[in-house]
Amino acid sequence: MSLATRIRDMEESPTLAVTAKAKAMRAAGEPVIGFGAGEPDFPTPAHIVEAAQRAASDPVHHRYSPGAGLPELRAAIAADTSSTSGMEITADQVVVTNGGKHALYSIFMSLLDPGVEVLLPAPYWVSYPEQIKLADAVPVVLPTTTDGGFQVSVEQLEAARTERTKALVFVSPSNPTGAVYPREAMREIGIWAAEHGIWVITDEIYQHLVYGSASFTSIAAAAPEVAPWTIFTSGVAKTYAMTGWRVGWAVAPAELAAGMAKLQSQLTSNVCNVAQVAALAAVTGPQDEVAAMREAFDRRRRTAVSKLAAIDGVRLAEPEGAFYVFPSFEGVLGRELAGRRVEDTLQLAEVLLEQAKVAVVPGEAFGAPGYARLSYALGDDDLAEGIDRIAQLFAR
Ligand code: GLU
Repeated sequence: MSLATRIRDMEESPTLAVTAKAKAMRAAGEPVIGFGAGEPDFPTPAHIVEAAQRAASDPVHHRYSPGAGLPELRAAIAADTSSTSGMEITADQVVVTNGGKHALYSIFMSLLDPGVEVLLPAPYWVSYPEQIKLADAVPVVLPTTTDGGFQVSVEQLEAARTERTKALVFVSPSNPTGAVYPREAMREIGIWAAEHGIWVITDEIYQHLVYGSASFTSIAAAAPEVAPWTIFTSGVAKTYAMTGWRVGWAVAPAELAAGMAKLQSQLTSNVCNVAQVAALAAVTGPQDEVAAMREAFDRRRRTAVSKLAAIDGVRLAEPEGAFYVFPSFEGVLGRELAGRRVEDTLQLAEVLLEQAKVAVVPGEAFGAPGYARLSYALGDDDLAEGIDRIAQLFAR
């Protein structure tokens, strides 16, 4: 069997792979603690589930619906994105997709011609480069580090700009680092992009998960100049504990949204109606459970940071958003752990899983060797126990 080159050359999603492995080990009776997937441990709030149950009984939802999304949901997303971006967004600019991942794929496929370049600050989320390459475009990776707060600068962007640069992927709060850009830094980046006619694809899936003194700002609000050049993605997965429901969306200029809808008409048709009704209940319903979940994540964030910072050889910048910590483990590389010399964070992740029964995602997956990502969207006791196990392994 010879697979198509595009699939042969593609990496499997490492976040999903780590999670699947941890779940399989747990099912086989191993006491694995999973810091792998960014997946809230809470159930979806009851009023959302009930809306879905009602929708499932209504024959109207047993049929095809408009491919770009249910009109009420598109309108609600347009209203929501208008308020965060300061723009006047209409429902025809919204395409409802099978999760944020699908929105990104549709954007890349509908916007990028072969050979064009997309600026991609690293550490980046695992699926961006693979999806950009699926569109035959070229990801241009721009590294950032703990010391720079994992923020890309206009100087870096300008140095990487060529006549083929078509877009920038901009993410704040960031997966995997949890970094939140200050408004002024976003403003500079937005103005730079607008000046050069570069599309800003902004992934705002963590917009409701910011902590401490940080607040969420959309790049389009920080720099109204870039608003006409901004393409938004978001979804219900992280905010409403709805990862399995698979509802995300893209918000784009109407012409691009129509292009994406055309692609969707050939690719998937509408997203599951029941899930869309659930997403509508999430976006338009009471938000108090969101606040409660955010509070729990914040508590876990502070636990994770203080416990990790106390481990010899671990260095980290305090994350202000999302639900990840992204420490540097460079201080432990080259050491022997449980009788095995660990040279890179891929090996470290293997040793952590085998010896400490702790699953983390190695930094290599995010274009940042030397680091690893730990999601703190897991129970408080598991979180503390998992980091203790890491500390104990390093101290052995
Ligand atoms: N976005 C989540 C993560 O980074 C879910 C897994 C995935 O789709 O990659 O863990």
